[in-house]
Amino acid sequence: MKKTVVLLIVFTFLITSLFSISTSSAAASHDYSTALRYSILFFDANKCGPDAAVDNVFDWRGACHTSDGSEIGLDLTGGYHDAGDHVKFGLPQAYTAAVLGWSLYEYKNVFDATGNTQKMLSTLKYFTDYLLKCHPDANTFYYQVGDGQADHTYWGAPEVQPGSRPVPYVANASNPGSDVCGLTSAALTIMYLNYKDIDSSYANKCLKAAKELYNMGKTNLGHYAENAFYISHSYWDDLSFAAAWLYAVEKDPNYLKEIDSYLSNKTLWGESPFNNKWTMCWDDMYMAVFCKLAELTGEQKYIDAMNFNLDYWMNTLTTTPGGLKYLDSWGALRYASAEAFIAMRYYELTGNEAFKSFAKSQIDYILGSNPLNMSYVIGYGSKYPKCPHHRAANGYTYANGDNAKPAKNLLLGALVGGPNMSDGFTDDVNLYQHTEVALDYNAAFVGALAAVNKFSGNIVIPTSTPTSPSPTPSTPDLIWCDVGDLNADGSVNSVDITYMKRYLLRGIKVLPYQENERIRIPVADTNGDGQINSSDMALLKRYVLRAIKEFPVKYDIYGNIIN
Ligand code: ZN
Ligand code: CA
Repeated sequence: MKKTVVLLIVFTFLITSLFSISTSSAAASHDYSTALRYSILFFDANKCGPDAAVDNVFDWRGACHTSDGSEIGLDLTGGYHDAGDHVKFGLPQAYTAAVLGWSLYEYKNVFDATGNTQKMLSTLKYFTDYLLKCHPDANTFYYQVGDGQADHTYWGAPEVQPGSRPVPYVANASNPGSDVCGLTSAALTIMYLNYKDIDSSYANKCLKAAKELYNMGKTNLGHYAENAFYISHSYWDDLSFAAAWLYAVEKDPNYLKEIDSYLSNKTLWGESPFNNKWTMCWDDMYMAVFCKLAELTGEQKYIDAMNFNLDYWMNTLTTTPGGLKYLDSWGALRYASAEAFIAMRYYELTGNEAFKSFAKSQIDYILGSNPLNMSYVIGYGSKYPKCPHHRAANGYTYANGDNAKPAKNLLLGALVGGPNMSDGFTDDVNLYQHTEVALDYNAAFVGALAAVNKFSGNIVIPTSTPTSPSPTPSTPDLIWCDVGDLNADGSVNSVDITYMKRYLLRGIKVLPYQENERIRIPVADTNGDGQINSSDMALLKRYVLRAIKEFPVKYDIYGNIIN
């Protein structure tokens, strides 16, 4: 008996050793580009409305819920089903549109290099077209279609779901919804940024709606009414996130003052939001706020909040034996993905390799570097969940318990909820906390994959290579960038100093503005001598510290010195 135990231990040890070898080799071979492609396609499976089959990679999806909104005399068709069910819930819908849009905005070069930009844009527009419909005038926003209780009693294809759907909630002058209005505002502002060079009139429509929704949210303060499925615990985070993106567009410092006042409010748990241990999700956008504001302003309080949160995640938070950071058992992987996205953004700001390794470790776990050697992304790798909690993909009904069978249709690219705290996973459609999929699960996952692919993948991202050596005034695409604004975010501040430092120390080979082929101004050459070196750094520092009011050189938009 004892012998058996010893043998078992030895055997387990061998397996473990073998396992760690296979894990490390697997870690090197993940195909981030394929995973990224799939994770974007997933959204097609959840398209709703008369056009659900248009531009849809899944031939098992068709038009559904074509009379949404009719009970209030509006067309509220379109948008996306929330998860494995068919309700259109406002907060996760807005969250997903915002975070997906944010991912495209920051990693456009990755989506370009992997051929995914068009699909990202059409996916995003399917969100924002719907969000705009839900906002028929400056003071109204409908934020849910469908009834959660009723919907969840139905298991079957959305195309044949019987009955019409209610529009239970609205935000307006008498009903607050600061959370959902704030988050939707951010989604629309980000769409403005992603779309302004494609269709400026659509982009401006988004920005106008974004400002109206922000205004609604801050004027009539209060939580929204959905109190059963997506209970909102905070709205200062959502208003801050909305204001941060409006600030990114308009550079109006009043937005920063408003954010300061929002962030002075304690959380529901009586804590300062700056000591946040959660991660970005539909209910808690504080880390998204700190991340974006650290980038935009370089202010220490945001840097401190980022460091506090990442330190907690990397060093204190429960970790499974296989290395997954485990915030909550319901959809554990969405949280790890979201933190990976945040960590990658912060890696780009700080150059701290630890954040990059941490993010990569979480994404690699999801893609198969885990004790089960399975991928949690459906269709990716050779072993992945076959019984996702998703009515349309499942293809059966509740009759005879058929819905427990493996899905008829491949739900390509869907990230499932994930394992238990011991890295175990039961592929059972009814264990929805582990096998369900959702818009918000895939949202940050797309962004994290793009980021990890940028720095650890096999893709080649073209750096600034102007095609025409002597640009002429007929080149309409060039955009302005101030001298010293190394990350081309519209302001010259300590963040630009950080970039200059990293560039001079060879931590990065390319400065952010150099990646934008529409910028011809040699922004980092602050003295105009044709080189980028410590003299430019010295001038940049003096400018940021307001020791000088302007740089000794001026350029025109083509990069020619004009003084
Ligand atoms: Zn539908
Ligand atoms: Ca919130």
